[in-house]
Amino acid sequence: MEAAELCPPPAGAIRPIDRKSVHRICSGQVVLNLGIAVKELVENSLDAGATNIDIKLKDHGAELIEVSDNGDGVEEENFEGLTLKHHTSKIQDFSDLIHVETFGFRGEALSSLCALSDVTIFTRHKSAKVGTRLVFDHNGKITQRTPFPRQQGTTVSVQQLFSTLPVRHKEFQRNIKKEYAKMVQLLQAYCIVSKGVRINCTNQVGQGRKSCVISTAGSPSLKENIGAVFGQKQLQSLIPFVQLPPSEAVCEEYGLNTADMPPNLYRLTGFISRCDHGVGRSTTDRQFFFINQRPCDPAKVVKIVNEVYHLHNKHQYPFVVLNIGVDSECVDINVTPDKRQILLQEEKFLLAILKTSLMQMFGSDVNKLNVNQKLLDIAGNLKKTLPEETEKPQVEMLSHSETESPSSEGKRTMTLAGLRESFSLHQTPECNFRSPKKVKQLHSSPRQKLLDTTVSTGKTQKAVFTKEPGGCHKVDSKVSILSKYLRKLEDNSDSGFCSISESDAGCSTPEAGSCINSESAINSEEEFCSTEEQLQSECLKTAGCSKKSLDCDGQVLGTEPKSDQENDRTDQSKFSQEANSSSPRVKRFKSRNFKSKAEDLEAGKYPEVKNTSADVLVKVKKKIVPLEFSMKVLAEKVRKVIQQQQKRTETENYRRFKAKISPGDNKVAEDELRKEISKEMFAKMEIIGQFNLGFIITKLNSDLFIIDQHATDEKYNFEMLQQHTVLQGQKLIVPQNLNLTAVNETVLIENLEIFKKNGFDFVIDENAPVTQRVKLVSLPTSKNWIFGPQDIDELIFMLSDCPGVMCRPSRVRQMFASRACRKSVMIGTALNVQEMRKLITHMGEIEHPWNCPHGRPTMRHIVSLDMISPE
Ligand code: ADP
Ligand code: MG
Repeated sequence: MEAAELCPPPAGAIRPIDRKSVHRICSGQVVLNLGIAVKELVENSLDAGATNIDIKLKDHGAELIEVSDNGDGVEEENFEGLTLKHHTSKIQDFSDLIHVETFGFRGEALSSLCALSDVTIFTRHKSAKVGTRLVFDHNGKITQRTPFPRQQGTTVSVQQLFSTLPVRHKEFQRNIKKEYAKMVQLLQAYCIVSKGVRINCTNQVGQGRKSCVISTAGSPSLKENIGAVFGQKQLQSLIPFVQLPPSEAVCEEYGLNTADMPPNLYRLTGFISRCDHGVGRSTTDRQFFFINQRPCDPAKVVKIVNEVYHLHNKHQYPFVVLNIGVDSECVDINVTPDKRQILLQEEKFLLAILKTSLMQMFGSDVNKLNVNQKLLDIAGNLKKTLPEETEKPQVEMLSHSETESPSSEGKRTMTLAGLRESFSLHQTPECNFRSPKKVKQLHSSPRQKLLDTTVSTGKTQKAVFTKEPGGCHKVDSKVSILSKYLRKLEDNSDSGFCSISESDAGCSTPEAGSCINSESAINSEEEFCSTEEQLQSECLKTAGCSKKSLDCDGQVLGTEPKSDQENDRTDQSKFSQEANSSSPRVKRFKSRNFKSKAEDLEAGKYPEVKNTSADVLVKVKKKIVPLEFSMKVLAEKVRKVIQQQQKRTETENYRRFKAKISPGDNKVAEDELRKEISKEMFAKMEIIGQFNLGFIITKLNSDLFIIDQHATDEKYNFEMLQQHTVLQGQKLIVPQNLNLTAVNETVLIENLEIFKKNGFDFVIDENAPVTQRVKLVSLPTSKNWIFGPQDIDELIFMLSDCPGVMCRPSRVRQMFASRACRKSVMIGTALNVQEMRKLITHMGEIEHPWNCPHGRPTMRHIVSLDMISPE
């Protein structure tokens, strides 16, 4: 026994993690950020029946979060359990979960906050005569307990959030403004939904003045809460949700049968922006969804609301406050620790109700017109496109959605609803409505098609790639493999595609028993000059082999004259010229080593060999030179060669670029490029040539890249405009009130310089009440572009995400993008090497060279020459 105790358990043994560590590990997963910390505390106050909640932040919450309420308070007997893991007063067992009406029920928040920060709780239960102050350690144990005078209710004070997780703490402090903005967004939802509860939040930076973050008046109406948070003006643009039973067309779309729908399953209430042009918002910054008054992120609901809105107001997003009432048996809120993902039974009915109602709310007339137009459009396209293979994507789009559509089981006919769905679903594909930045990237698709078709229809060029023999086998075989890769882009429709050159297929394997692996000799040309080559030839010499043993390569090259004849000499591709001219080294190597043995014999290059058999007298003159030979040295050298080869195979096996060139793989491709290509690498790229008068082929080490000349130039010009253009402002006759929320006002005041660069100027009245401090006095102007308060809202939205970072409203970006496009190198323009070099160098000078302002990709990896094995 004793011996067993002395020995530590074997390393691989499975043992429980000690409780303290478990606690720390798990707590960081419950409270992920400032927003969740505040949310949990506010939820606790609401659960305690508070009608008055005060949130006090210091340094945006990094220093202190303090939430005080006038709720029930905590009874003395519960002090210990308050901060223990999975201790809750809200449920007792799993069955209670079904009817839980409180926000909390997992008993995790306070215990996690203890593990992550310094927590103090002041509380007085209604039954207690005096309040108590409780100080907790990181395990949730009470370390101090003192009487403390206070009114009924509870105050939870959280200091130095995340200080127990050093890395997270640093990140938290670094991103505090971003965290703060997100927290405010979250808090807004609770302010809106909490009827009859007064919520007030302030922030104090350093020793500065407390500023109001958000404040509601405890009104019993949703509408007034919205007014308190976003100002009365916001209310003017809203219409209430009017719920309708799902229409037949919509039901058909979702594959539903109205008869199956349980009565009164869902109850929708709330408000949404009118769909008139300009009434919505430029971002999704004001969208709040609730299920049974619980703020949440129901992704499909969010999507459908924005989709339908877009049908009526194409370029804007609605303000939304939507509560979905549903019987508690039909929901599962216990999906994620933050309870923001919620599972719903019969969700399709909800979507159908929502879609029907929204369509009706936004005006059925407009709707009919739109749908009809779209039908015509689609039908027109169908007529045109069905016989033509070239426009396959559109046909695919329809048939794809048809199969996807739940209504299509067994049906092949295109229903009205199916068409409508395919239209609406594909109009904004996988749109993440939460992020305007992402939305911008989506505009890429039509252009992307252009890129694809340009690459894939360049058949003549491919033939050139394939047939071009260049000066040597290596480039030839690699180019032909390159053409294979290009062919892959063609979606397997390779009609008319030239066959691969012989060298690709006919490469022989090295002779067995040769002391080197001949693969090394047929790898990239650089290697011929490497020390390895020296080693190899040395090794050959020492071992007494002739270089002719390499004639396996000679054979391969022997096919060259033939392919030379076959060569399509009419080709004008710069690519091939470059390939030819860029390999003098290889040519030299070829002429030096790879003429076949037979050829050499014929040419009489080995006279000594011929003479020795006849001339016996020579024996006398023969000099005898002792040749040093050491088996040990030879073995050592062979070992080195093998080692080097192994090393190289290892690096070869690591493929850095794996993404396909396909619109679906754009993100992966971009991530790879971002990871593998640093700014300075662009300058080091070798220009191979121009392809199809639209693309530049470059080479970096053993990787070949294809670069869209127009897209990349456009991106560079765009970035330059973004960075250096100062938009001229035009003074307004009367300063304009902006109706900003307190937070947005602060964001604006903190980023005045960025607004100025965008042509917006303001007067600030520090002494005016919060939300009235800022007045607009100057707006940017540019020929046909008119800017306004919406652009300010959008800038504020971006700046609350990245404070202090130069940014532009999307419409300014659009303006720059179209200017940049006009001044960039067009597709179809022949470029010389200097011009191409300039474009590539520019790529290294900007932050995100990976796609043009319209989202079209600028650069893709085609192939790694290391991966090409002639077999
Ligand atoms: P949960 O809310 O899931 O029960 P918490 O860790 O948030 O878990 O809170 C633990 C318990 O502490 C709650 O169940 C509640 O009884 C009590 N509590 C927390 N905050 C308050 C508050 N502000 N007022 C009264 N009781 C509170
Ligand atoms: Mg709680």
